[in-house]
Amino acid sequence: MASCKFCLNNTVDTWFGSWCEKCHKLQRIINLFTIDKVMTVLENVLIVDEETQEHKLKEELKTELTTREYQLRERKKKQKDSDK
Ligand SMILES: [Zn+2]
Repeated sequence: MASCKFCLNNTVDTWFGSWCEKCHKLQRIINLFTIDKVMTVLENVLIVDEETQEHKLKEELKTELTTREYQLRERKKKQKDSDK
């Protein structure tokens, strides 16, 4: 069997076909959500440049720190309350 003309990776799903099973599934997804929507999702999820990744990491760290600070403050408050 020939290889898929779309992904050039898998073999075609039917003897006379030109695409593989996964690419046919992809085609159905594109039909369902429109090519623009699928492209946007792919670009946002897979094609993330380094700067954006670094920024995301910093944001995550900031959130983590803020959460910890809050938890610490709450714990101290509770301790004070129990001391009374
Ligand atoms: Zn394919």
